[in-house]
Amino acid sequence: RVDADDSGTFYPFVRLLQAMILVTGGAGFIGGHLAEAFIRDGYDVVTLDNLNSYYDVDIKRRNVECAREAAEEGTGSYELVEGDIRDADLVDDLVDDAEYVFHQAAQAGVRTSVENPRRVNDINVEGTLNVLDAARESPVERIVFASSSSVYGKPTSLPYEEDHPTTPISPYGVSKLAAENYVRVYGDLYDLPTVALRYFTVYGPRMRPNMAISNFVSRCMNDEPPIVYGDGTQTRDFTYADDIVRANTKLLETDAADGEVLNIGSTDNVSIATLAEVIRDEIAPDLDIEYGERQAGDAEHTHADVTKANDVIGYEPTEDIRSGVRKFIGWYQENREWYEPLVRSS
Ligand code: NAD
Repeated sequence: RVDADDSGTFYPFVRLLQAMILVTGGAGFIGGHLAEAFIRDGYDVVTLDNLNSYYDVDIKRRNVECAREAAEEGTGSYELVEGDIRDADLVDDLVDDAEYVFHQAAQAGVRTSVENPRRVNDINVEGTLNVLDAARESPVERIVFASSSSVYGKPTSLPYEEDHPTTPISPYGVSKLAAENYVRVYGDLYDLPTVALRYFTVYGPRMRPNMAISNFVSRCMNDEPPIVYGDGTQTRDFTYADDIVRANTKLLETDAADGEVLNIGSTDNVSIATLAEVIRDEIAPDLDIEYGERQAGDAEHTHADVTKANDVIGYEPTEDIRSGVRKFIGWYQENREWYEPLVRSS
């Protein structure tokens, strides 16, 4: 991308020079929320995303729209660069101009990683290395890596504290752990200010349509019983997107977490069966709950201890499962016309 002025002189990446925050994967669910929030806080945001078709790209276009609207309404600006995190030259250029990097781009999802581990490795690990290598040559203020509770794998004790052993049980978990380790090692070796946030199952407006919460809500809205994979005793720390945004935003204000790994969860740990009941009770209390076959690679339990995040950056989750689900259902009802077909077809 090259901009020209009236005299025909070309200024490569002129608009990028004003960019302060690079959000990789910023057209995705979490990246989209981050981009919008940063713009509303007055930052200039550049997003790198390849808008891939893992789930319906219409949702990503909506995320981009929301960020653009935020830029029109406020003082921050927004730019989408359509490109691949595996393109090292492109990543170099973008990281060069960024003060902060929030690295969200990844092939998310356990199931797809079971089907195609190598592709997930290329994007999640090699892509992260591109960001880190680029940062070695640039004066970036902070690199924040979106890690995952899936690095823990098998619990020996719950809730997970950050020093709990990491034995991921899916290629996705392995890729996030490998990338997280690179983030830590680059931080140590090359004096890079890095932070890894281990997100616990995130949900909220414009969430990926192929997740349990969007699926359960959609089924209940259509008077169909929610279908739980397995016996429903698996537990999760469902975390509302706004809490994830809050944790990330704090890292613009403090260097206290540099070099750290922090759990970012809700701490309101519920079973999948309970989740289905909470959603069913909100929407269609007379419906039964059905049970299907358990999916390979799914963790049995995840539960966050967020004491460290609280100590280091003052993170406190604000939504429990009932309040968060209620908010999500409210959003779903307002956006049902465009969002529901995408959930149904995923
Ligand atoms: P998402 O799929 O909505 O967002 C990821 C974005 O990255 C997408 O917009 C996608 O197009 C983009 N992307 C993928 N491959 C790319 C590539 N090769 N080049 C450029 N862009 C690419 O997923 P999400 O739920 O928003 O997850 C964001 C981050 O948070 C990911 O790193 C994920 O591993 C992590 N995470 C998510 C959750 C969750 O529950 N959603 C939990 C733990 C960790």
